[in-house]
Amino acid sequence: MGRELRGVEIVAIGDELLSGATLDSNAATIAGRLESLGLRVLRKTTVPDAEAQIEEAVRSALARSGAVITTGGLGPTRDDVTRAAVAGVFGRGLEFREDLWRALEARWTRLGRIPETNRVQAEVPAGAEVFPNRRGTAPGLAVEDDSLGLCVMLPGPPHEMEAILSEQVVPYLEGRTGVRGRRSFRRTLRTVGIAESAIAERLGNRLDDLPLDVAHLPEIDGNDIRMTAWAADESDAAAALDEAVSRLRELLGVHVYGEGEADLAQVVGDLLRGRGLKVGVAESCTAGLIGKRLTESPGSSDYFWGGMIVYDDRAKVELLGVLEQTLQRHGAVSEQVAREMAVGVCRRSGAETAIAVTGIAGPAGGSEDKPVGTVWLAVMVREVAVTERRFYPGTRDMVRARAAQGGLDLLRRTLLEELR
Ligand code: AMP
Ligand code: MG
Repeated sequence: MGRELRGVEIVAIGDELLSGATLDSNAATIAGRLESLGLRVLRKTTVPDAEAQIEEAVRSALARSGAVITTGGLGPTRDDVTRAAVAGVFGRGLEFREDLWRALEARWTRLGRIPETNRVQAEVPAGAEVFPNRRGTAPGLAVEDDSLGLCVMLPGPPHEMEAILSEQVVPYLEGRTGVRGRRSFRRTLRTVGIAESAIAERLGNRLDDLPLDVAHLPEIDGNDIRMTAWAADESDAAAALDEAVSRLRELLGVHVYGEGEADLAQVVGDLLRGRGLKVGVAESCTAGLIGKRLTESPGSSDYFWGGMIVYDDRAKVELLGVLEQTLQRHGAVSEQVAREMAVGVCRRSGAETAIAVTGIAGPAGGSEDKPVGTVWLAVMVREVAVTERRFYPGTRDMVRARAAQGGLDLLRRTLLEELR
C-alpha cells in the first residue's frame, strides 16, 4: 500500500539541536538505514520545538518530496508538539487511543502511578499507524494521505529511535515499489599531496557524464574522493564506478595511493616488503609518529628497522652524525639537515631506505623565511637521497600529522619511481 517513494526528507526537531547542545546523530542514523533500502535523503531541516515551525517544515518537505521522517518532540512535556503539528498538516484531529494508554499504564506500573501528563502520548493524529517503543514511552507514528504523502514520526532519544527505525519502520518502508531493488554502491579513492582545489581543476567536468555522485572528502592528511552509484545490483553499478576510477587514476596519477580504507603507511610497508627492503626513520618534529604509523600492522618487523627521535640539535648530532657546521649554517629545519638525518639513519641501521623529517610544528618558532608549517622531508633509497620542502598549514597536531604523511608519501613515490 501507499505511494511509491522516491526519496525522503528528514525534519529534526529540538531546540537543543539548533543551539548545538546536542549533535544531530539521528539524521545520520536514519540516512544510513534508508540508504541500504535504496532511499535517498533529499533534504534535512532542523527546527525548534515550536508547533508552527514544525508544521511549516513538514508541509513544505511533503510538497517537495512526498515523504518525511521527523525525529524528536514526541515526549510528554509541553515542548513536545510534533504530534499536534503533524496532525495539523494532515488536517486531522488528535485521537486518544485507549490501547496506547493501556500500554503506557502497563509500562508505568513497575515504576508507580502514571503521571497524567503522559496522557498526551496516547493522543495521536487520527488514523495514525503506531510503532510501539519497547525502549521508552513515545511510540513512533506514521500518517499518510494520497495527496500529501507520508510522514513518519520517531522519538528523539537515539537508542529508542534506532530500535523503532530498524525493527519497524524499515520493514514498513521496504515493501514499497519505489524502494525495492535499488541500493547504493561505493568506491573511494584516497589521495595525498594534492590540494582539493587542484583535484577539482584536474577533474573539471570529466565525470559528469557518468550516472554517479561524486563527493570530495577532505581529511587532515589527504583528500578522499567517494563515488556512489545507485543500481539494482552490483554489476549495474560496476561499469560506471570502474570507469570513474580509471579516469580518476589517470587524471590524478601518483597522488592516488589506494582505495577504500587504504592506509598510506601500509601501502609503504607493502612496497618495502615486496622489494625485501628495510626502512629506518629519523624524526624531529613528528617525534615518533612515522614509526608509530609504520608499526600499526602486525608483521611490520619485516620492513621496519626502527628509528631515532632527534628533537634537540644535540640528538641530531650525537645519534645521527649531523654536522654541527650544517646546523649552524643552515638551521635545523633545512634541506641539508634533513638529508644528513636520512644518511645518518641508513648508516647507523644498515637499512636500505630511510625517512627523515625536520620542521616547525608551531605555534611558536616560525620566522619570515621559515614560517610555522615549514617542513623538510628527506628519504634515502639505496644511497640516493631525495628531498622536498613542504608547507603544511594548520595547528601543531595537524602539521605533525601532515608531515608524517608527507614523509611516508615521499618514500612511496621514490620507491615507485625507482621501478620505472
Ligand atoms: P525528544 O523526543 O524531543 O523528547 O528528545 C529527547 C532527547 O533525545 C533529547 O533531549 C536529546 O538528547 C535527544 N535527541 C533528540 N533529537 C535528537 C537528534 N536528532 N539526534 C540525537 N539526539 C537527539
Ligand atoms: Mg525534544
